[in-house]
Amino acid sequence: MTPSRKNIAILGAGLLGRLLAVELANAGCQVSVYDKSSSQNPQSAAFVAAAMLAPLAESVSTEESIVRLGYYSLDRWSQILNLLGEDVFFQQKGSLIVWHHQDTSSAQHFKNQLKKTSEYLPLSRLAQNLKKDDLMQLEPHLSRQFEEGIFLPDEGQLDNRELLDALLKKGTQLGVQYQWQFTVDLDQFPIDNFDHVIDCRGLGAKSNAPELRGVRGEVIRIYAPEVKLTRPIRLIHPKYPIYIAPKRNHVYVIGATEIESEDDSPMSVRSALELLSAAYTIHSGFAEARILESGAQCRPSFKNNLPKIQLHKDLRFIHVNGLYRHGFLIAPAVVDRLLNILLEDRNPLVNELEIEIQDLSYDHIC
Ligand SMILES: Cc1cc2nc3c(=O)[nH]c(=O)nc-3n(C[C@H](O)[C@H](O)[C@H](O)COP(=O)(O)OP(=O)(O)OC[C@H]3O[C@@H](n4cnc5c(N)ncnc54)[C@H](O)[C@@H]3O)c2cc1C
Repeated sequence: MTPSRKNIAILGAGLLGRLLAVELANAGCQVSVYDKSSSQNPQSAAFVAAAMLAPLAESVSTEESIVRLGYYSLDRWSQILNLLGEDVFFQQKGSLIVWHHQDTSSAQHFKNQLKKTSEYLPLSRLAQNLKKDDLMQLEPHLSRQFEEGIFLPDEGQLDNRELLDALLKKGTQLGVQYQWQFTVDLDQFPIDNFDHVIDCRGLGAKSNAPELRGVRGEVIRIYAPEVKLTRPIRLIHPKYPIYIAPKRNHVYVIGATEIESEDDSPMSVRSALELLSAAYTIHSGFAEARILESGAQCRPSFKNNLPKIQLHKDLRFIHVNGLYRHGFLIAPAVVDRLLNILLEDRNPLVNELEIEIQDLSYDHIC
């Protein structure tokens, strides 16, 4: 069978599912996608996320492999958006880190952690320390109380919802069949009817992958016409570290909590107070902002917070998961690696990057 005739089922239409569907259909495969939610009311981590593409900021708390996957993916996003042909908000103007004077020791710790990246990143990608004047030049509307900051060049961000819509539209144009409100139960699903079944159900795959866990994250979307910040800002704080990601039309996403819990019920009052108070200290104009919505979802994570591709039954069933808080940051790399396995080596560079691949080529899917 030639790769172009492959008949593939994708379980889950969150970030991974939608991206894979487009890439596989674009390569000539026949693709069907199944998701438990309706197309109008997505219930994915991807729909709630801030979609920052921040390999350097994340490097202080994650493995080198994620940072490398992140930089690879940053380059790939612009190619993917070209393929989609839609006006999806994407920018790569870097991001800023700031802190209040009393949190200088936390900032020093952050700087020390950042230094470790100089062992493996080129100079042009390294963090730059900024004095107040440089800060004000980059973001003239930032509160003047910050005496210094750190600039992380190259970092980017996307509008997650525009991206999800554009992926769906492109997938439909390419002939992908979407089955909404279809809750997959693997015991009932006709796996043998397909050449490959790819499980992208995020935390929804937990009953078949007990080692998965959810990490609750909450964000608030606000409309703040008085605030004119142009790039993502992170506030270092020992208790309430937050980020503010500006989207189009004066919309800002403020996030995100990180709670070891699989509870995806609405945001708590405590979290709302913490996120909004911290945002107000970055720009007083947030006081008059309008709260558009708050959201909570669980990030699908393995114990080591790293992604994994599990190959079962000689590639008949494939489970891709564990993107944790790095889904948008690394999804293009994870998808390219999977395409190399399923089709041919279309993006050989990604094979040099570290992604755990478990070959479980026996009959058992737990
Ligand atoms: C608050 C928050 C902020 C985040 N911010 C960022 C960020 O700034 N940058 C970044 O890179 N990442 C961020 N992330 C992480 C990112 O959203 C996830 O890593 C990513 O969405 C995981 O993609 P996924 O496709 O594996 O899962 P999801 O996006 O969760 O998609 C899973 C899909 O499977 C479907 N499904 C589940 N069970 C079933 C079933 N039984 N049958 C059929 N369908 C099913 C669901 O409906 C859903 O559509 C954030 C996450 C959260 C929660």
